[in-house]
Amino acid sequence: MKQFPAGRIATASLGFPRIGQQRELKSALESYWKGQTAEAELLGTAKQLRERHWLLQGEAGLAYLPVNDFSLYDQVLDALVLIGATPARFGTGEVTTERYFAMARNSREQTAMEMTKWFDTNYHYLVPEWSAELPFAVDTRKLLGELREARALGLRARPVLLGPVTLLRLGKPVDDGDPLLLLPRLVEAYVAVLGALAAEGVEWVQVDEPCLVTDLPAAYAEAYRTAYAAFSQLSVKLMLTTYFGALGANLPLALSLGTAGLHIDAVRAPEQVQSVADGLAPAQTLSLGCVDGRNIWLADLSACEQLIKPLEAQLGAERLLLAPSCSLLHVPYDAAGEAVLPGWLAFAQQKLEELRALSLGEEGAGAVFAENARRNRERARAESSIDAAVRTAVDKLEQQHFRRGRPYAQRAPMQRARLGLPLLPTTTIGSFPQTAEVRQKRAAHRKGHLDLEAYEQFLREQTADCIRRQEAIGLDVLVHGEFERNDMVEYFAEHLRGFAFTSGGWVQSYGSRCVKPPIIYGDVSRPAAITVGWSRYAQSLTSRPVKGMLTGPVTILQWSFVRDDIPERDTAFQIARALRDEIGDLERAGIAIIQVDEPALREGLPLRQAEWAYYLNWATEAFRLATSGVADSTQIHTHMCYCAFDDVLPAIASLDADVLSMESARSRMEMLDAFRREGYPNEIGPGVYDIHTPRIPPEAEMRGLLELALEVLRPEQVWVNPDCGLKTRAWPEVTAALTNLCRAAEAMRARLAG
Ligand code: GLN
Ligand code: ZN
Repeated sequence: MKQFPAGRIATASLGFPRIGQQRELKSALESYWKGQTAEAELLGTAKQLRERHWLLQGEAGLAYLPVNDFSLYDQVLDALVLIGATPARFGTGEVTTERYFAMARNSREQTAMEMTKWFDTNYHYLVPEWSAELPFAVDTRKLLGELREARALGLRARPVLLGPVTLLRLGKPVDDGDPLLLLPRLVEAYVAVLGALAAEGVEWVQVDEPCLVTDLPAAYAEAYRTAYAAFSQLSVKLMLTTYFGALGANLPLALSLGTAGLHIDAVRAPEQVQSVADGLAPAQTLSLGCVDGRNIWLADLSACEQLIKPLEAQLGAERLLLAPSCSLLHVPYDAAGEAVLPGWLAFAQQKLEELRALSLGEEGAGAVFAENARRNRERARAESSIDAAVRTAVDKLEQQHFRRGRPYAQRAPMQRARLGLPLLPTTTIGSFPQTAEVRQKRAAHRKGHLDLEAYEQFLREQTADCIRRQEAIGLDVLVHGEFERNDMVEYFAEHLRGFAFTSGGWVQSYGSRCVKPPIIYGDVSRPAAITVGWSRYAQSLTSRPVKGMLTGPVTILQWSFVRDDIPERDTAFQIARALRDEIGDLERAGIAIIQVDEPALREGLPLRQAEWAYYLNWATEAFRLATSGVADSTQIHTHMCYCAFDDVLPAIASLDADVLSMESARSRMEMLDAFRREGYPNEIGPGVYDIHTPRIPPEAEMRGLLELALEVLRPEQVWVNPDCGLKTRAWPEVTAALTNLCRAAEAMRARLAG
């Protein structure tokens, strides 16, 4: 198979989704992990997928195909294997497939490496563990093996490496040393890797350095200079690849590194294009990331062409390369089979076609440009996306819509009087075990095998059972259990206007885990009440307060593909308005406590600190817009799944939620110090039960955590709850753990009273 003849400007891809269009890699991994298939079978599937993806990219006429972008689990872990810097606690010497997965996945014997978000995407990588002990013994088997595979197909390959300085910066020290002290050995390892590629006759290597679009400490800027000075001696050409934002103040640094090419994100940061082009050295190639690798909307080809034409004139076509803004890992495979939003979506395959059209140019691919323009016009004018009433309502929002009636100090006694709760009230975060039976019934209902009436009857039984169990355990504030929800975002998206759902729009979240985010394509509104029926029903079964349970506007936004034709802030406000109406209905149905979960609030933080204030401002406004319409005696809770609050605490405080619950059991209440320092006035439920494991924490352990909390917080401030929802747990352990939790609370109350 030969690559297509290129157009007037060459194109490249920075990386392709690897899980497989039918999620073949997921199935292969999971059956291998279960011991149902042999290693050879897994590796065979992986090879087939790589070949299929290369052929697809070759057919799209790409001049350079990415190699080594494939991973069995994570590309950061692969980079560590490549340079021989995997943590010694998993063993030493050549990394076997078994050891590779031991580093990636928790087992009974050992906790895996830590996982965290890849920049501002929803992909998660394994965090490098830096220590002076690392051997830095280079292992190029995977890299060179995949290079040979691609070449065997007759394709021109451009290997992808995660750059050394980004790799260093993404890791954490596990001994007392400064990771920067490892730089010389790290650079030496990379020189060996690049040397091996040069020996194979590789012309170009893509070196990903997305940290260049973040705020860099001076020492890391220096690390860039050191590393790339060492690489300048090598015969391979480096494409220094930056994405997810503008180089900004790091532009002179990036230009000074003397690489043969520079890739920039012209979608997120179109404003940088001219200054980059002006700053290039005479022989440097510009790779223009002009097709959005992060979102699923069709490109505007003629707008891209407007960007490309002057660059072509300035640099010459031979010094220009067209590419997606970043790896296509963050978008699904193929929109062709989707019934929704026909013609508006561009997944990985469509993005390759867009690149091909751009490479040919409007003169060469006129019909494609005309069709693209027609679709963009159709999308811009679609009645289904514009709801004048929603837009007017958002325009007319006033100060008062973002503020509770009275300040917390005055609301608190009103809420106390209304709710009559004991000191240290006990509650949960919302979901209770989603048993196999719950999931089976939902699937049967979705497939049409179980009618709505029977399904809802089943859900009512589950809810009633859940209320009885919570009463028996002795919890003070109950929840309905969220049995009707598949996913905390999808459930709300399905009940709001402006959202669409694909059938195959999967993207990798980590390892074999994929998500299918809803697509926000139009103005958001709420055609009917969503959760009120369930909350009212649950409340009718008990005299204790039942908490209403909603997902917050920022989390709904963060975990969806968002329209790119209006500001995100506006979409957030539209969602918030819909939730505000829902909260009003819950209140009218007699619900006295309403929780609005915002686990993704912190995730949305921009990569650059200078942009934080703007984001946090609209994000917290959206939360207050949703929640501030209630009576002062109605109690608003919020929940976050993390404990890193130090840098966002003022924003958290500005949510003005009456009660904030969060994860804290594992870190043993460490984050409470920040709350004490800042003098957080409202109520807090620091988690005392780590729900990530089946372990049942003994009463004494939870009491110990409460004691720690009470060293920092006033007793009237403290709630007692688990770290997060319980949907992944099983009933026996949940019942035992919550019983212990209630006993711990009682013991502490007795102590405070005495
Ligand atoms: N209410 C949700 C639950 O309990 C919250 C989940 C979350 O914080 N991610 O499942
Ligand atoms: Zn949570």
